Amino acid sequence: MAGRAYFQVPPALARTFDHLCIAFERSLLPGYGWIFPGPGNRYNLGCGYFDADRGPHRSLRELWERFTTAFEPAAAIVRESTRLTEFRGAPLRTGLSGARFGRPGLLVLGEAAAMRYPATGEGIGKAMESGLIAADLVADALSTGAAGDGVHERYEAAFRGRFAARYRGYAVAERWSAHAWLLNLVAWRAKAGRVARCELEALMAEEGDPRRLFSRSGLLASIFR
Ligand SMILES: Cc1cc2nc3c(=O)[nH]c(=O)nc-3n(C[C@H](O)[C@H](O)[C@H](O)COP(=O)(O)OP(=O)(O)OC[C@H]3O[C@@H](n4cnc5c(N)ncnc54)[C@H](O)[C@@H]3O)c2cc1C
Repeated sequence: MAGRAYFQVPPALARTFDHLCIAFERSLLPGYGWIFPGPGNRYNLGCGYFDADRGPHRSLRELWERFTTAFEPAAAIVRESTRLTEFRGAPLRTGLSGARFGRPGLLVLGEAAAMRYPATGEGIGKAMESGLIAADLVADALSTGAAGDGVHERYEAAFRGRFAARYRGYAVAERWSAHAWLLNLVAWRAKAGRVARCELEALMAEEGDPRRLFSRSGLLASIFR
């Protein structure tokens, strides 16, 4: 589950907090809060958590209250800014869980096929990538006059072939990111060394495989470099 609200932040405060922030605030684990500065000092603040189906019931609104009181940068924005929208949330379907990619004559893209990555909940990139793969296959099918003929199967094979391993990597990162001590270790190494920082950047940019960091060998490498 994740939710967010928009705020018009006063220029003085915006100058002191002008960077993208992902906060693994202990009370949100497994999950995180974020502060995304936008154009014209319009900020997106939100929080989300994982394991909604499996874990104990958690209230997204309570998490929001905690994030915007316990995490001081978020608390300052809420205190000093004009709220532009209500806090609104939605369930997140991640990791291709229960995904159906289509049937003859129908292709399922993006959110409808649970294409968000675990651990980050980011889905815009994958929605667009599924659209590109689908468009190529549809164009091919139309040009050969074979529309409807196994296109959905080729689409699923192409998408899984390109991304299945990375989904597995993000699922591992999601499990590891439930542990505060581990996140503290990663944050410490990201500040001090190159390996953890580069791998975290790759994770957010949807490049590479999160297991390069969220594994014993990855953590070990991050301690020395
Ligand atoms: C609080 C929150 C924060 C998020 N933050 C991020 C982020 O920072 N980065 C990121 O990558 N992802 C983020 N996501 C996820 C991202 O929003 C989705 O993964 C992405 O929007 C999926 O795109 P989509 O086109 O598949 O589906 P959608 O964006 O859901 O688009 C589907 C569209 O279809 C329309 N529709 C539905 N039913 C019908 C119908 N019957 N007829 C016609 N139209 C219909 C809907 O109104 C909607 O406009 C966030 C999600 C939430 C809830």
